[in-house]
Amino acid sequence: MRKKTCKACKEKFIPEREMQTTCSYTCAIEYARYLQAKKIKANKKQARRELKEYKSNDTTELKKKVQQACNEYIRLRDTKEPCISCGYSGTGRQWHAGHYRPQGGNSALRYDERNIHKQCSICNTHKSGNLAEYRKGLIQKIGLEAVEELEASHSIKKWSKDELDALMAQFKYKIKILKDRYKC
Ligand SMILES: [Zn+2]
Ligand SMILES: [Zn+2]
Repeated sequence: MRKKTCKACKEKFIPEREMQTTCSYTCAIEYARYLQAKKIKANKKQARRELKEYKSNDTTELKKKVQQACNEYIRLRDTKEPCISCGYSGTGRQWHAGHYRPQGGNSALRYDERNIHKQCSICNTHKSGNLAEYRKGLIQKIGLEAVEELEASHSIKKWSKDELDALMAQFKYKIKILKDRYKC
């Protein structure tokens, strides 16, 4: 038979069988171990790839980030306005971006600018949104028709990664424009 190169020690040898890939028993074992290790490595690589793909399709984190950008934009947009619910405009409270319709059960309104306004921490956190007063402020700001439209909405929306990416880009752009305008 024609000479071959041993897969393990790389020496030339004359095989005794057609399928022989290593020169000796020792090399055969060594080569088998090498193949085994290679297989494990490939499996790990595959597992990492799958995890990465899973993470890139999972929008949980992205939704939170878009909400953060959305809230930052709302606070900037409403910089010169008081709390939508109680009218507070001092400096002693933190400013939040408060949803009129809550996000749970209304995920379609999660990033809707009509539904989110600057609110003081007392109304937002301690008075659970202070919704009765929120409604009055909101009617003044966007009109009864728009408020009723928000109230009629009960739709759950599954935001896709592409939609979230697009929203993120929009909010970032709007934030930049407002920051330039207010020099902050
Ligand atoms: Zn060998
Ligand atoms: Zn308030």
